[in-house]
Amino acid sequence: MDSNIKVLMIEDEEKMRDLMKIAFKKESIETFEAVDGKQGLSMFKDNNVDIVVLDIMLPEIDGWTVCREIRRSSNVPIILLTARGEEFDKLFGFELGADDYIVKPFSPKELVARIKALLRRTDNRSNETTHILEIGEIIINRLSREVIIEERIINLTNKEYELLYFLATNPKIVFNREQLLLKVWGYEQYGDPRTVDTHIKKLREKLGDFSNYITTIWGVGYKLEVPK
Ligand code: CA
Repeated sequence: MDSNIKVLMIEDEEKMRDLMKIAFKKESIETFEAVDGKQGLSMFKDNNVDIVVLDIMLPEIDGWTVCREIRRSSNVPIILLTARGEEFDKLFGFELGADDYIVKPFSPKELVARIKALLRRTDNRSNETTHILEIGEIIINRLSREVIIEERIINLTNKEYELLYFLATNPKIVFNREQLLLKVWGYEQYGDPRTVDTHIKKLREKLGDFSNYITTIWGVGYKLEVPK
């Protein structure tokens, strides 16, 4: 495993990149370098990397957004880099789908150890076709963003897809409208909670016979689970 690991590091500080590069080279880890979030996302699309090391404070597109964007199409392990004293919300990072985080300054050796541990943990997963998510009769293809029920493609708008995808990746958990607005419509955007209701209604219509996958918890919010 050690010799063919491909790492994408997204880090704007040259010194940090150099430090990591030296450590990776020692371990024969192939390194892709991006200096901002935008370049990071485009390099991620173009290269089939095994793991992403992602700085949070980045020019162009910040690390949180990069993390969320990557998670829309991939299960690739992500390690967040955070500066000491930087306001860092661990839980938020994990909710966005990061697998681990490390606080700067760190020893490159420790980073390599974390990378290896993470790859061992996710090794079995990555061999599967992870772009397919099945929840009962609903099949979601993360790459093509298609939703298929009984061999039929369900036409969803972008936000309907994201709402369904979010609920499907967090099954049996009840989310209130504010949480869904935050997760699906964007971190800093606080919109009208009724937007959520409208989208849930549309989603249910489109799911047809399978609308009962989405349950309303009165006075709280919504959850998705396979009906018994
Ligand atoms: Ca930075």
